[in-house]
Amino acid sequence: MQTNEAFLEYESVRHRLPAVSEIGQCLHLSNLEDLIDEIDVFLLDAFGVLNIGNTAIEGVPERVSKLQSIGKRVIVVSNAGGFPHALLMKKYADLGYNFDTEDVITSRKALLRGLSELPTQKYGLMATESLGRADLEDINITYLSENIIDYDNSDAFLLLGSAVWTEDRQEMLLDSLKRNSRPVYVGNPDIVAPREGGFSVEPGSFAHRVADTTGISPVFYGKPFGNIFDLAFERLGEFDPERTVMVGDSLHTDILGGHIAGLKTALVAGHGFFAGQDIKKPIEISGIKPDFILANP
Ligand SMILES: [Mg+2]
Repeated sequence: MQTNEAFLEYESVRHRLPAVSEIGQCLHLSNLEDLIDEIDVFLLDAFGVLNIGNTAIEGVPERVSKLQSIGKRVIVVSNAGGFPHALLMKKYADLGYNFDTEDVITSRKALLRGLSELPTQKYGLMATESLGRADLEDINITYLSENIIDYDNSDAFLLLGSAVWTEDRQEMLLDSLKRNSRPVYVGNPDIVAPREGGFSVEPGSFAHRVADTTGISPVFYGKPFGNIFDLAFERLGEFDPERTVMVGDSLHTDILGGHIAGLKTALVAGHGFFAGQDIKKPIEISGIKPDFILANP
């Protein structure tokens, strides 16, 4: 899948995403340091801002560390729903970043907060079993694989990670839901994610297909939806949204979500989703206009 295709996938589900509430000026800047005068709080997306795969983006650990050293607040806001938190923290440390574990806000945390407010039930889980059950210890989960009984016996479904999900499993999920409609909770609303070798298909994609074929409205946790920003705001305590920026490489998750949350927004143009691509057209077509466009994070 190429960038334009990935972009159009997002455009095709706009009716399930929050509506654009604000329009930015698309001011072109070089990198995060250019925002020092007008921004106190930096909410950073991970993939496409901090790293690409298992490599830090050149110069970014140093720039983030500089922001931290001059007293800026830096918080990670990521749709990394499939990763146990401890693994994620280790990854960022290995890449050269120094974040407090409470300053890394993920869609996984937003989902777990959401589930904590629901009655206890049996969840069928889309996730990569080899990553382990850390963070999920208190939930009754069954990893969904080739056994249809596991699907039919679930009270509800959690879509956290799709790395080992298959078309066969998706068919079983759809069949089971057609026989008996149940809630679907999504811990990563991303439809696709840029990888070193192209775009991967993420849980959001499978969730939208559930919605398209069964009429079930999945409940999404993570950007662009407000629940993940609520967690970030809880962590921040008192802050000035006018001096807070959401930085990310995706128009439909980072920038749209930042706008909806009432923050300034900065699109990273040179890495991740739009790396090497023209960004003018997608901004025009989507109507999602960031306040700032950064050549690099
Ligand atoms: Mg990203």
